[in-house]
Amino acid sequence: MIAGIDIGGTTSKIGLVQDGRVLRQTRIPTTGHADDKAFADALAVAVNSLLKEQGGTIKAVGIGAPNANQFTGIIEMAPNLPWKHDVPLARMMRDRLGVQSVLGNDANAAALGEWRYGAGQGFDDLLVVTIGTGVGSGFIVNGQLVLGSAGNAGELGHMTIVVDGRACTCGRKGCLETYVSIRGMRQTYAELADGLEVLKEEGVKCIADAAQRGDQAAMRTFKETVRWLAVGLANAVAITGPRRVVLFGGIVRSGDLLLAPLKKRFNEALLNIYQGRVDITVSALPDDDAALLGAAALGTLR
Ligand SMILES: [Zn+2]
Repeated sequence: MIAGIDIGGTTSKIGLVQDGRVLRQTRIPTTGHADDKAFADALAVAVNSLLKEQGGTIKAVGIGAPNANQFTGIIEMAPNLPWKHDVPLARMMRDRLGVQSVLGNDANAAALGEWRYGAGQGFDDLLVVTIGTGVGSGFIVNGQLVLGSAGNAGELGHMTIVVDGRACTCGRKGCLETYVSIRGMRQTYAELADGLEVLKEEGVKCIADAAQRGDQAAMRTFKETVRWLAVGLANAVAITGPRRVVLFGGIVRSGDLLLAPLKKRFNEALLNIYQGRVDITVSALPDDDAALLGAAALGTLR
């Protein structure tokens, strides 16, 4: 059994995982603690109370977090977390729980989870892309998670897709996630539509619904999103040569609006040696459990 911890901006999830299943889980707020030590204490208490209910022991702890450096086990000045200094969370959890603790970037954790337990099983060359508020990604190459020099490689969302394009939260311009994320799609719709009634609802389901009703701007929003995403994914394939791309997130469940045209555009955009040889599929993990399974998969690393 492994404890998986997923650190989010407002809530952190804690779960016990065995054989690719979340046996038991709970959550605590990420904010409102006196300091990072009090937060780590609260995480340890949550793990121990789950263990008390479940019975048994854990072999390791895996923690997925934004801005995590897997080499050092430190969360480095994450913009969306309460602490503006470095937090050595891997060591803090090891000290509190007495087992190996591995901290990793949340997008890389998602990729590991998909590789170990989901739609990426058996694929030693894999790309996993999470599309939500932003775009996160993790690369498995030659049977290994790619970490790069700083322990957090694989930021497909911050690949420039439009030179001098939209301003990104990272301070640069034209990043893929400024076009393909929830925020990006809403901006695309806002640029294309005269009336913005549709955007009164949150998320992108409202755009999908409008497209189903035949709203021209909404249909074009999906078309443009598919075009950017297809090119972004094809560029990534040219570098690491995955055999499969797994997509995760609410947007990719927009079915025929996104996935079917994406598969076609992606294949057309691929370097010729890859055409017809890379498939795109949607995550096989339950939405609610994916982050915890990914975090737990980190715990299986040495
Ligand atoms: Zn960016």
